[in-house]
Amino acid sequence: MNHVFPPAPIPVVPVAGNTSGFPVRRIYCVGRNYAAHAREMGSDPDREPPFFFCKPADAVLPVAPGATRELAYPSETANYHHEVELVVAIGKGGQTIRAESANDHVFGYAVGFDMTRRDLQFALRDKGRPWELGKAFDQSAPISPIMPVARSGHPAAGRVWLTVNGTLKQEGDLADLIWSVPETIAHLSKYFELCPGDLIFTGTPEGVGPVVRGDRMVGAVDGIGELSIRVV
Ligand code: MN
Repeated sequence: MNHVFPPAPIPVVPVAGNTSGFPVRRIYCVGRNYAAHAREMGSDPDREPPFFFCKPADAVLPVAPGATRELAYPSETANYHHEVELVVAIGKGGQTIRAESANDHVFGYAVGFDMTRRDLQFALRDKGRPWELGKAFDQSAPISPIMPVARSGHPAAGRVWLTVNGTLKQEGDLADLIWSVPETIAHLSKYFELCPGDLIFTGTPEGVGPVVRGDRMVGAVDGIGELSIRVV
């Protein structure tokens, strides 16, 4: 059937070493997946089952290799936070995937920022309301080029860090994830059928904090890539 207006373009993330890009279908995010960050959010970091929220696919803000991209400070917040995270890019779909075979479903990995209107997130959380206004807004998911598994392997450890204007703000290690990537895929695929093009933001280490216009954020997962963003 024809369309009554042109369909919106599919968001595409560059792939390292490939002229073809990764077409994004959905963005899933894990909440509180590092104990120290759970504590700074006021939660008990005991190993409860992981919980998930979503961002729209077109919230991605892809950044070309080696580039710094501008990100507009969002409306309706006075407490705009960075969260640097390992992102899993799904290349093979499935339901009720077993953790033992979950790595077979991964196309590659990237560095992402789960940008957050913290003031709105906390206000919504405290009223038991959905988080979308705090988490799922436009450009809330800046992302580096995807490093294919063929080049990166499946990292079980590796430093995750973020600087603001050159000062280290966040630092953690993938080895400290409460729920590993294979365990996260196993849990998530019990509730949703995962498909090629899905991205999973795996949670942020401690040290989240605000940025303002003019700030430059550089985040990285060692062995996977780096992401540079200027807030304007
Ligand atoms: Mn997050």
